[in-house]
Amino acid sequence: MNKPLMEPGFRDSVNRLFDHAVSFMSISPGLAEKIKVVNSTYIVRFGVKLRGDIHTFTGYRSVHSEHAEPVKGGIRFAMSVDQDEVEALASLMTYKCALVEVPFGGSKGGLRINPRDWEPDELERITRRFAYELIKRDLIHPSQNVPAPDMGTGEREMAWIADQYRRMATTDINARACVTGKPLPSGGIRGRTEATGRGVQYALLEFFRHDDDKKAAGLSGDLEGKRIIVQGLGNVGYHAAKFLSEEDGAKITGIIEYNGSLYWDDGIDIDAAKDWMTRHGSFRDFPGATFIEDGAPLLEADCDILIPAAMESAINLSNADRVKAPLIIEAANGPITAGADTILRAKGTVIIPDLYANAGGVTVSYFEWVKNLSHIRFGRMQRREEEAHHRMLIEELERSSGVTFSDKFKQRYISGADELTLVRSGLDDTMRGAYGQMREMWHDKRGKHSEFDLRTAGYVLAIDRVAGSYAALGL
Ligand code: NAD
Repeated sequence: MNKPLMEPGFRDSVNRLFDHAVSFMSISPGLAEKIKVVNSTYIVRFGVKLRGDIHTFTGYRSVHSEHAEPVKGGIRFAMSVDQDEVEALASLMTYKCALVEVPFGGSKGGLRINPRDWEPDELERITRRFAYELIKRDLIHPSQNVPAPDMGTGEREMAWIADQYRRMATTDINARACVTGKPLPSGGIRGRTEATGRGVQYALLEFFRHDDDKKAAGLSGDLEGKRIIVQGLGNVGYHAAKFLSEEDGAKITGIIEYNGSLYWDDGIDIDAAKDWMTRHGSFRDFPGATFIEDGAPLLEADCDILIPAAMESAINLSNADRVKAPLIIEAANGPITAGADTILRAKGTVIIPDLYANAGGVTVSYFEWVKNLSHIRFGRMQRREEEAHHRMLIEELERSSGVTFSDKFKQRYISGADELTLVRSGLDDTMRGAYGQMREMWHDKRGKHSEFDLRTAGYVLAIDRVAGSYAALGL
């Protein structure tokens, strides 16, 4: 995306943000370097016979840090995939997991492929073969390395990977925990597909609960009526936009896709736009908004909140100074380069950083992994017991007071928590908890250091926890 040549690559960009945070810490240069470096990157090249010929594919699995195991991180299918990209993404996974206190090290994988070029049965063969290459090297394993979906992959690919592992590890009773983001029949968990977008919603709701934070961005009130522009209407962008507009009253005024964008002042119907995109492959001629051929300049349009939810480096040295949004929430990984970050910080833009903002996915992946290891659905043992207690209380209150509660209230109060309710509760708690820690440090330090922002706080918290793990290991 128009990334100027003088900008460092993605991994260097992440490392610059890391170095910036370390400059506020008192850890030794040696330990900082050990935490920063990527431990290993495996490159596999394999052939698959398709359409009468052998096609060779290149895939990667990078492990950034094994201070906690298994290591965790998505598998991306995109033509942009290379060593630099997976290493940057693996590093971010380490910091993300540490920040939201999910007990995993950081990893990431990718296959250089355009999934749109292949039919589903061809993609299945390619995915299974890639999985085979990783499984035989323990780079997919319930206790060592657990992938998840990322750009270009979803629950379908995760089901193929889980099945491939099961075929190769026939006696592993925990086989289902080898990958997360699976569909329910393959051992998935309710709420995982929506989790990253849901986490973005919870992060924004939490931000808008704090007057000081809103003031820093020059915003007020709550999400009702806020004008939001989203880049990327994939898994993360779609769910975030849907929940924010349908549940919180925000207006999605712009949607940017790789092949054209939509703009509408009164807000775009997200499900209608998504449906149009799915059926026609583009937003062109969508009746509910104005279609713009070159959508990228929409990143610079007037709005209250910008949600880059597509890919890295979308906001870089070439456009950062024209970005008007006072609040940016990084739903994608690395959508703002380190150079752009400096420009935006100097302008006073508040950035809710990727390592926090999109942590909803790995948080619910953690719940799925725990579910797979415990072999039981969350809520199965206690739900009806909880209901019986609530019912007893309501009945006793009605009997002793003579008051009759409404059926709606009784139904809501009595019903015990099912898996989806528990997943959302755990996710909300995680997003609120991590934000609280970041904002406390941010407000504590930003008076003295104008360069100390929410991202720096997130990195400092994460690095400190990884350093703590190393200290506990005696390193
Ligand atoms: P996805 O493949 O479902 O969606 C990506 C969307 O971005 C697609 O609609 C695609 O067409 C669009 N896009 C691609 N290039 C674009 C461009 N140049 N301009 C505008 N739109 C473009 O991927 P996803 O899973 O939603 O992931 C998006 C981002 O979120 C990635 O950075 C990923 O690493 C990050 N992320 C994803 C998850 C997850 O659970 N899926 C978790 C954490 C972070």
